[in-house]
Amino acid sequence: MRVVFLDVDGVLNRHGYRPAESRGLASWIEPELAARVAREVAALDARVVLASDWRIGRTIEALREAFGGHGIAVHDVTPSACGGGRWREIAAWLAANAVGAAEMAIIDDAFDMGELAARHVRCSPLNGFDEAAVAALRALFAR
Ligand SMILES: [Mg+2]
Repeated sequence: MRVVFLDVDGVLNRHGYRPAESRGLASWIEPELAARVAREVAALDARVVLASDWRIGRTIEALREAFGGHGIAVHDVTPSACGGGRWREIAAWLAANAVGAAEMAIIDDAFDMGELAARHVRCSPLNGFDEAAVAALRALFAR
């Protein structure tokens, strides 16, 4: 099973983006960027696990509705409070689900992915998930 760990701010929206009307998480997702993620995830036959802080305080049903409206199916979310650092939360999910690092990628505009850095597709928060990030993602699974 291939897995893509997905961030939101700086990936599905660009720095400075403001929805015309804020109605929850879905309005903070830019359709063009979400469509690109959906396309690539489908091409990889990967599942999406949400690693963004947007997952905190929301039910999986609410997240699935918000992302589903943008064509992204949320499979699961990473656990919280795994001793500091988003990459540790991702590592905990991988261990719990017996998924190897070679079968996953992390799409995030953060810099520190610790021991998982080799599988990190870093987006610029100015551009979000752009075509350069697409190329980096494809390259990870082409090896
Ligand atoms: Mg971010």
